[in-house]
Amino acid sequence: MSKAQLTVLVGPTAVGKGTVVAALTQRYPNLKVSVSATTRDPRPGELNGVHYFFVSPREFESMVQRGDMLEWALVHGRNRYGTPRGPVDESLEAGVPVLLEIDLAGARQVRENRPESQFIFLAPPSWEELERRLVGRGTEGPEERERRLATARVELGAASEFDHVVINDDIDRTVDELARLIGLE
Ligand code: 5GP
Repeated sequence: MSKAQLTVLVGPTAVGKGTVVAALTQRYPNLKVSVSATTRDPRPGELNGVHYFFVSPREFESMVQRGDMLEWALVHGRNRYGTPRGPVDESLEAGVPVLLEIDLAGARQVRENRPESQFIFLAPPSWEELERRLVGRGTEGPEERERRLATARVELGAASEFDHVVINDDIDRTVDELARLIGLE
């Protein structure tokens, strides 16, 4: 069986990655979305092993030292997030397409390690719309929002590094476009 494709999806805070990826996996159960490890605390409703593997800074460091991470990064200057290598490779070997939803620094590492991967940037229709979505979801206070918007500015500036830029203007249209690019249709 030929090896399946690895797709990396990057998008700024509040662009709607979570919603888009949830809709994609619901429609295409064959797509494997990698579960990242993170040092941040779970939010209400988040489950260990489902949304993330919630690990201590020490456990995270051992995973990095053992070479278990395909990539990892300090995100928003606060917590570390990384992609465990094993499950990604097992799926790809089994012919299952894999999606990584990671930050820009992580995507750049994957470009170094796995240049054959496909890189997609999910963009908001406008900067104002991004700010509106971030305030609207109400999960971050003003300080954390500012931190996330600062990261978002940098990420938007790097959109041209990606193979494709998909504008998340309408969830169904966006899911259709991503499915086509990932080869799920
Ligand atoms: P959140 O804390 O809102 O769940 O995620 C914050 C950011 O961390 C998101 O923008 C997401 O792309 C990034 N992220 C999640 N998992 C990983 C990962 O495994 N590696 C990297 N580099 N970034 C990640």
